[in-house]
Amino acid sequence: MKILTETYFDFKDVLIQPKRSNLNSRNQVDLEKTITFLHSKRTWTGIPILASNMDTTGTFEMYQKLSKLKIITVFHKHYELEDYPEDLDPNYYSLSTGISTENYEQVKKLISKLNPYFLTIDIANGYSTKFVEFCQKVREEFPTLTIFAGNVATSDMVQELLLTAKVDVVKCGIGSGSVCSTRLKTGVGLPQLSVCMNCSEVANGLGGHIISDGGCTIPGDVAKAFGGGAHFVMLGGILAGHDESGGELVTNETGQQFKLFYGMSSKHAQDKYNGGLQKYRSSEGKVRKIPYRGPVEITILDILGGIRSTGTYIGAYRLKDFPKCTTFLKVHQQVNPVFDNTIFLQQ
Ligand code: 5GP
Repeated sequence: MKILTETYFDFKDVLIQPKRSNLNSRNQVDLEKTITFLHSKRTWTGIPILASNMDTTGTFEMYQKLSKLKIITVFHKHYELEDYPEDLDPNYYSLSTGISTENYEQVKKLISKLNPYFLTIDIANGYSTKFVEFCQKVREEFPTLTIFAGNVATSDMVQELLLTAKVDVVKCGIGSGSVCSTRLKTGVGLPQLSVCMNCSEVANGLGGHIISDGGCTIPGDVAKAFGGGAHFVMLGGILAGHDESGGELVTNETGQQFKLFYGMSSKHAQDKYNGGLQKYRSSEGKVRKIPYRGPVEITILDILGGIRSTGTYIGAYRLKDFPKCTTFLKVHQQVNPVFDNTIFLQQ
């Protein structure tokens, strides 16, 4: 047993220091990136944000809106083969799979039907040998597929996945999700900003990439993830509660509208897809009612506007320049809370 005493940071623990710059307007900040992937060798251009492969956010409806902005939607793995529309743009969606034989058989059928560019291999704990072997097998079978895989949260495992398992992009984040209860149930997890910084450093050295997955609660967090070196940022909770998010819209007695949002390993999701929770497992996901938020476009444009504005504050003309333009300050308080409990007439 040992203890690491160095400080690890979450997004809320830091602010970004402003700098002199010649940028005059937010529209001068370019959020598109062109990325060539380490093993698939494919080149992709777009805004490197991903809608999470949760069944509430990785939906076809989400893809319809986000693909227009060149943002990728990672489809959840519970769609059937015949559910998939014919005319998907392969640049802006990813299929997803777990590592069971059943999942893999299903995704192989989808791959032969759709000929996708991206596949996301997703399990809660990416530290298992079985996971690494599964990724290796997929790489051997599909050499030109761009593979996103995770989740892990430390640089040793990023290295293993890039070099041994030959995945292109490592999905990083353990316990930081909005409806995740891994830290409560297991005591395991790492603060997400430090995950971005530590994991991207190793990936950069090897020519690979990482996704910061989970923990973004406001647009400023997405900017901090990019500033901290994340090549892609995956969003769940921020995209929940919209028209395009899965789940039923429920109206309560007072007329307020909600959508259900839940972790994919919550009891709710296990009941829905796996016929209940296995006796040896505990639920590691929460279930929440999210106030209905209307069309996702409003939220996503707000996030993109926020990131562009960060660019003007730090002198970054391109998203690519964020890490080299970012100086984080360790802070004790991020925002002024004085009116937090006041009801606003307008946001
Ligand atoms: P958010 O953007 O909501 O903070 O985080 C989204 C991420 O939370 C997802 O992309 C996924 O990695 C993670 N996640 C989703 N469902 C669960 C769950 O039930 N348990 C845990 N531990 N993580 C989850």
